[in-house]
Amino acid sequence: MTTTDFIRAASCADDYDPNSMSVEKARKYIRDYLSPVQSKECLPLRNALGRVLAEDILSPHNVPNHDNSAMDGYALNADDLQPSGPTTLHIAGTAFAGKAYAGKVGRGECVRIMTGAVIPVGCDTVVIQEHVQAEGQTITFGEGVKRGQNLRYAGEDLKQGQAVFPAGHLVRPADLGLIASLGIGDVKVYRRLRVAFFSTGDELASIGQPLAEGQVYDSNRYTLYGMLTRLGVEMIDMGVVRDDPRLLENALNEAAASVDVILTSGGVSVGEADYMKQLLNQLGQVVFWKIAMKPGRPLAYGKIGKAHYFGLPGNPVAVMVTFYQFVREAMLVLMGQPNPVPAPLLPAICVAPLKKAPGRTEFQRGTLFLDQDGAWKVRPIGNQGSGVLRSMSEANCFIVMPESCGNLPAGETVQVQLLEGIV
Ligand code: AMP
Ligand code: MG
Repeated sequence: MTTTDFIRAASCADDYDPNSMSVEKARKYIRDYLSPVQSKECLPLRNALGRVLAEDILSPHNVPNHDNSAMDGYALNADDLQPSGPTTLHIAGTAFAGKAYAGKVGRGECVRIMTGAVIPVGCDTVVIQEHVQAEGQTITFGEGVKRGQNLRYAGEDLKQGQAVFPAGHLVRPADLGLIASLGIGDVKVYRRLRVAFFSTGDELASIGQPLAEGQVYDSNRYTLYGMLTRLGVEMIDMGVVRDDPRLLENALNEAAASVDVILTSGGVSVGEADYMKQLLNQLGQVVFWKIAMKPGRPLAYGKIGKAHYFGLPGNPVAVMVTFYQFVREAMLVLMGQPNPVPAPLLPAICVAPLKKAPGRTEFQRGTLFLDQDGAWKVRPIGNQGSGVLRSMSEANCFIVMPESCGNLPAGETVQVQLLEGIV
């Protein structure tokens, strides 16, 4: 979508309606406008954890590369199984993992075999040691053994030439192991996303400064730092910028010159938004939304130069909610993941009544717990004020209440979104 199209489409929501832009619609506009990073780099495998693959990874060979035993036991040829009654076989030798049995197994013979050892030539079945009576160089076992039992076949895990991961895949710990199992030591990934962020507000003091009357310490840069660290992006913390158009202009221009994403907090609520609007209209193409959500109603989004811009609200809880609901997914797309998995919504029984007016999607803070009756339940945090950051610290989930939902009595099933794991 071109910037002009985006601005035209995304701005046409009715400014006089305080609930003009739904969470879903805003997500879609953001999504359609994102342009992911293109540059790639080659990294040693371990360093690729948390990065997004820039190329398909194909299996250079079969995994496993030979038929092998899934259990400790005896390898045999199923043609030697007695149709009824016990089978007795002579033990011809032993096959270890990494040290195959060199000979050929003849009729009436078997080979003692360890898990992972290559199946000896002439064998097609493994009977596990627990089912066998061994005496000297012979074994005896009962009926019920089936041909092909306890074998892992060559290429069962991966076939040679098979696409193991597509480009756009986020590398997780299991993936490091799987890529290593192919013998691949270097992988091509997209470069890290560069993100600059700063807080705005004349009332903000930084840690280390005394707190004057009416001031608050800047906490948003710390929550943003935490969330961005978990996303694995490169960060530039630009500190606190006063509510002064010249200083804000300098900071935004400086950031736009060197990063992919700019995040600011504060300055987009009613009253403050007017000069931010003017400023951002000069510097780039940005829309100001009143999102039908609580907390986090004001949100600015667009581009300044080549950088994507998110103007988050100032309230500390609203910063986190808007980050989780909009910024996180956008960042994953920008990092090169075409279809990031959304944070899942899970049902839980709410043990207290919930207060809510229909009209906005609410992200109330709650504690999910396993009740004595074995059911997962959620208790809302007492103070749901959007400035009360303690509610986020106490909570382990959002209780996500859809736009149309009103008050709910205790005992209703609600949807929760776990905070741990969102980033
Ligand atoms: P604003 O969106 O700028 O009107 O700010 C809304 C509320 O959030 C005000 O009470 C601010 O003092 C507070 N606030 C804004 N930025 C921060 C910050 N970086 N850290 C803590 N509180 C903030
Ligand atoms: Mg402010």
